[in-house]
Amino acid sequence: MPELKIAVVGAGPAGIYCSDLLVRGGAQVDLFEQMPAPFGLIRYGVAPDHPRIKGIVNSLHKVLDQPEIRLIGNVTVGRDISVAELRELYDAVVISTGAVADKALNIPGIDLPESHGAAEFVGFYDGNPRFQREWDLSANSVAVIGVGNVGLDVARILAKTGDELKVTEIPDNVYGSLSANQAKEVHVFGRRGPAQVKFSPQELKELDHSPTIEVVVNPEDIDYDAASEAARRDSKSTDLVCQILEQYAIREPKGAPHKLYIHLFEAPVEVLEEGGHVVGIRTERQELDGNGGTRGTGKYTDWPIQTVYRAVGYRSDALAEVPFDDDRGVIPNDGGHVLTHSGGDIVPGLYVTGWIKRGPIGLIGNTKSDAKETVDLLFADAPQLSRVREVDVVELLNARGISTTTWDGWYALDAAERAAGETEGRERKKIVEWDDMLAASTGASEA
Ligand SMILES: Cc1cc2nc3c(=O)[nH]c(=O)nc-3n(C[C@H](O)[C@H](O)[C@H](O)COP(=O)(O)OP(=O)(O)OC[C@H]3O[C@@H](n4cnc5c(N)ncnc54)[C@H](O)[C@@H]3O)c2cc1C
Repeated sequence: MPELKIAVVGAGPAGIYCSDLLVRGGAQVDLFEQMPAPFGLIRYGVAPDHPRIKGIVNSLHKVLDQPEIRLIGNVTVGRDISVAELRELYDAVVISTGAVADKALNIPGIDLPESHGAAEFVGFYDGNPRFQREWDLSANSVAVIGVGNVGLDVARILAKTGDELKVTEIPDNVYGSLSANQAKEVHVFGRRGPAQVKFSPQELKELDHSPTIEVVVNPEDIDYDAASEAARRDSKSTDLVCQILEQYAIREPKGAPHKLYIHLFEAPVEVLEEGGHVVGIRTERQELDGNGGTRGTGKYTDWPIQTVYRAVGYRSDALAEVPFDDDRGVIPNDGGHVLTHSGGDIVPGLYVTGWIKRGPIGLIGNTKSDAKETVDLLFADAPQLSRVREVDVVELLNARGISTTTWDGWYALDAAERAAGETEGRERKKIVEWDDMLAASTGASEA
């Protein structure tokens, strides 16, 4: 049987791990990516002060160095080339387009100008060219809604000083805004209790490593019911999170200048406004319901804050010509085959992996096992897969006026970013502007 030729759409971790498994099974892969650079949310989601996680990129280099994988960057599938075209040119197409936008939160006042989605702020501080270049950080007191790791990232970046972050890869425009940050108090609000929050123990513990940040937890917010105790017994991670929160609640203050409050059992119900601007947030006190959930107590508190960030989850976008389940925000699938609709028929030759398959939960490592599940299905279908046309897709795209980036181009961009950082004693300084990324990538790949 001839070698399989597969298109993978989206060069985040899921698409890269999937490409690796495909070539290990003997296939050829064209890996399409809309940005000039690969790596998805590792580059444009993981916080800049998490260099160890950002460093996963280095292990992914080994995957993308393989000659059987051709990275084709700066191509938006669905706009520059359709999924239908890819299905004609390849034996199979795997969609791994991840998630970039914020989920909505429907409470009064959430659309006020000083109320933002976490994804917008993350896009800004991680230097994503699709997001704004400057950020107003004039608020003294800030609210972050959501008790997951993205909420902690946003809260930590807001509570650190610009100079603390200058050692990271942040570009000059981001440093400019962060060094003008006036936030002295960051209030993280979650409706749930210690055993129900979605923090990773490591992330929660690291919050306190900055000399600028004092993490504060009210001892009254440490509460467990039988279901919470069972959750602690069942999960080491949950138990560790509870222990760390308990420590924060009882320890002596260390006197750091920026307070990062974690308020549990406080459900945000309204963003308060005066003259069209945010002046506070109202929360309703919650209590455990005995079954692992919480219920409102009818006791409300108004907290004076001037900016709100909602970190209530990411959302995937639909891709033209590919079924999409709007309610779940995923491509309907049976573990890897795309289905016509949830519970529907298999769409032949079309597969899905990563956050767009499972929803926006889980760490980078989880995308590996997820890719395996999809690739196993694809290889099992191999005898039925076939392509219609033999055309070089890069020539086709170039004929449409699209200048594509390559894996060699990434090495050139990487070198340019490292060189920019080196002059300031840092490992890297990110290049933000799309055209500058293209110039750094394509200049070298033509050389
Ligand atoms: C703010 C934030 C912080 C995080 N921090 C951590 C952390 O510290 N540690 C950890 O383990 N995990 C972290 N994660 C989770 C991790 O980023 C995800 O598990 C992982 O990135 C999901 O991989 P993916 O490939 O499915 O999606 P993505 O990473 O979103 O990759 C999808 C790729 O598809 C591309 N794409 C989208 N549409 C198209 C199109 N039409 N055509 C071509 N290309 C397209 C995108 O540009 C992107 O490169 C974090 C996530 C967020 C949001």
